Amino acid sequence: MSLVLDHVDVFYGDAQALDDVSLEVPRGSIVAIVGANGAGKSTLIRTIAGIETPRRGSIRYQGEEIAGLPSYRVCNLGIGQVAEGRQVFPTLTVAENLQMGALLPRARAKEKATLEEVYALFPKLAERRDQAAGTMSGGEQQMLAIGRCLMSQPELIMFDEPSLGLAPAIVQEVFRIIKLLHEQRGMTVILVEQNVAVSLKLADRAYVLENGRIVMQGSGEELLHDDRVRQAYLGL
Ligand code: ATP
Repeated sequence: MSLVLDHVDVFYGDAQALDDVSLEVPRGSIVAIVGANGAGKSTLIRTIAGIETPRRGSIRYQGEEIAGLPSYRVCNLGIGQVAEGRQVFPTLTVAENLQMGALLPRARAKEKATLEEVYALFPKLAERRDQAAGTMSGGEQQMLAIGRCLMSQPELIMFDEPSLGLAPAIVQEVFRIIKLLHEQRGMTVILVEQNVAVSLKLADRAYVLENGRIVMQGSGEELLHDDRVRQAYLGL
């Protein structure tokens, strides 16, 4: 098992955002997290990434307890995240944004080779390496956000709403990249995606979050055909 959460509670002040969340992410799998707005999906990703600290419970990555570790240490263990809303540094160039992804010891040694890999994966980023990130299209910024995450050499990569606000052709491209990272690089993927049908089709395993609790789990295929999921999240 790559990542295991056991009975994780997370609070913002008095408000509980994750309630007794337990889940497993097998190495090399794609795990989808499904839920309505405010269900706690981003909080889950932020907690695994070390940005929020659980009040209770454990998070083990490759057998090591990581709950409460600062985010740079989590990242240095090989857990990367592509945050919601892309969040590139707008005034820095594409190349500078990518460099920012490789600041940790884990990534630094291989920075040059990784940069070439990222440019090969995203030729547009290579063409625009000297352009300020903030002047690029939403789709290009999303590719940059993914590229910057890859610069940190993740083994497990978490995507929070990677297709949000993007044109359909770009959405397809984002999913193609996620599939490629999974199939060709063997990366483990946690995917939070409003495009529930696509994410369940990609996923080996999926969890449904409601009000901070896991209320359903199964293979992507099982949940795709579950009546409750179809009504609540697929509009069928
Ligand atoms: P969305 O898809 O709308 O982003 P989500 O499933 O990702 O929703 P979260 O963003 O994790 O949900 O939010 C879970 C709950 O925690 C919500 O009730 C939200 O209002 C609350 N919350 C999130 N961030 C904070 C914060 N920084 N301070 C206080 N409450 C927060």
